[in-house]
Amino acid sequence: MIVGDRKPFDEIRESVKDFKKLLIVGCGTCVSVCMAGGEKEVELLATELRMANKLEGREQEIGEATIQRQCDREYIEPIVEKARQYDALLSMGCGAGVQLIADMLEPMPVIPALNTRFIGIAEDEGIWAERCRACGQCVLGRYAGICPIARCPKSILNGPCGGSQGGRCETDPNRDCAWALVHDRLMKMGLLDNICTVAAPKDFRKQDFPARQVNQDYVKAEKEEAHASGKSS
Ligand code: SF4
Ligand code: SF4
Repeated sequence: MIVGDRKPFDEIRESVKDFKKLLIVGCGTCVSVCMAGGEKEVELLATELRMANKLEGREQEIGEATIQRQCDREYIEPIVEKARQYDALLSMGCGAGVQLIADMLEPMPVIPALNTRFIGIAEDEGIWAERCRACGQCVLGRYAGICPIARCPKSILNGPCGGSQGGRCETDPNRDCAWALVHDRLMKMGLLDNICTVAAPKDFRKQDFPARQVNQDYVKAEKEEAHASGKSS
């Protein structure tokens, strides 16, 4: 999932204070799971803003909505009409969601309420951890399902570095050395040979951005369907 973190309240309040009508929109997928931008967080932020407005004598109408996904047009479409009745939209989605809403509601100001952090997993109750940097050439097969790009702060493909001590990372003694994890799991798997040869440097030019992915089969099927229905009408 994409993990995000709510911006400090003062920053949010400052960014929306000049709008008379503000719609706060949550996202029911990733940022909802990491408890940063779902329905409950929308409710909480709306309440905080209303209280701050009251204390500061500011008049601002605040509306609330949460959609299933902010990174998909079909989920945004149902709230477009409602959103247009406001002066600005405060999005509690990830950076991708904020941008798609801004595209669809142009020229309405769309302001982010979150800082998008990383692609990660729920490690424990209330704890999320980074697991992938979307490098575009996954090497998890070689490294026993432990990503050295995302989990080693130096992203080294031939580790560990000289600072690894007792299975801990030199950058933070509270963090496991990713390379110790790779080593130990490969040993259990009987696959230590995987890291006995030097891995070639990754070609980070393949991590192109802005990245785009097209499923040609799907695009073709959609076109054929549209063509067929055009013919029959
Ligand atoms: S190698 Fe790591 S960063 Fe690259 S795609 Fe796989 S998990 Fe993600
Ligand atoms: S100690 Fe391990 S995880 Fe930390 S930087 Fe060195 S190789 Fe990477």
